[in-house]
Amino acid sequence: MLFYPLFSGSSGNASLVEAGGVRILIDAGVTGSALTRALGGIGVEPKSVDALLITHEHSDHVSGAGVFSRKYDVPVYANRGTWEGMLPCVGRIEPRNVRVFETNRDFYIQGVNVTPFKTPHDARESVGYRIDCGGKRLCVMTDIGVVEPRLLDAAEGADLLLIEANHDVDMLRMGRYPYVLKRRILSDVGHLSNESAGKALAKLYLRGLRRAILGHLSLDNNIEELALATVREMLRAESISDAAFELTVAHRDRLTGCYEVG
Ligand SMILES: [Zn+2]
Ligand SMILES: [Zn+2]
Repeated sequence: MLFYPLFSGSSGNASLVEAGGVRILIDAGVTGSALTRALGGIGVEPKSVDALLITHEHSDHVSGAGVFSRKYDVPVYANRGTWEGMLPCVGRIEPRNVRVFETNRDFYIQGVNVTPFKTPHDARESVGYRIDCGGKRLCVMTDIGVVEPRLLDAAEGADLLLIEANHDVDMLRMGRYPYVLKRRILSDVGHLSNESAGKALAKLYLRGLRRAILGHLSLDNNIEELALATVREMLRAESISDAAFELTVAHRDRLTGCYEVG
C-alpha cells in the first residue's frame, strides 16, 4: 500500500492511497485543477481514481470534489450527514457516483477494506478512515477536537497514521484570530493541538504504533518545525526515543512524498 499526502492543512486537504491496484482519494479540498496537477505530479491519471472518500463537508475537504467527480466520472463516498452538508458546495453529482456509507460500518472498494469512524468535530457527521489491504493498515484522522479513547482504538494496529497537529496553543492564543474562532478551534469539536497530537502518539506507541505523519497544520498558528519539535518533546517525555518512532510532517501546499505502508 502506498500513501501520498498531496495537500494537508487548513487551506486544503487531499491524499491518495494506492492499494491492491485500487486508487482512492481521501478528500478533495483544493480546486479541481490543483488536484489534477498534483496527481499528474505523481504520474496518476485522474480518470484512473476509483473512489473519492470524504471526511466531512468543510470546504477545505470538499471544495474540488464536485468538479473532480463530474470531470473524471469518479464515485464519491460519504455518510448521509456529510452528503447533506456538502451538497451546496459540491453541486450535482451523477446519481451513479453517489455512494452513501454508514459511519462505523466498514465496506469494500474492490479488495480494499474501508472503515469510516466517527470523529469529534463541528461538522454534521465527520469521520476518519482506516484502510486495510493485504495485511497493511493506514489510518487517517484530522479535524478532531479531542482524542477520545475510541479514536485510539480506531488507530490501533496502523502501520502508518496521519494525525492532525493543527496548531501551537500559544501561537493561536496570541494570534490575530477573533476570540470566537479561537474558542472554536480549542474546543472539543475543533482542532487538535501539537501537544494533544503528541500525547495521543505516546499512547499509541504503547499500543504498537511506530510511524506517524503530522498533518492539517494551520497556516497562521503553526510551523512545521514547531509541530515536529513539540511532538518529539512529548514523546521523549514518555521515554520514546527519536529512533524508536518515525515522525514526519505533511506539507500544506505540495506533495509530501510517497510512503510505503507497512
Ligand atoms: Zn479541515
Ligand atoms: Zn473541518
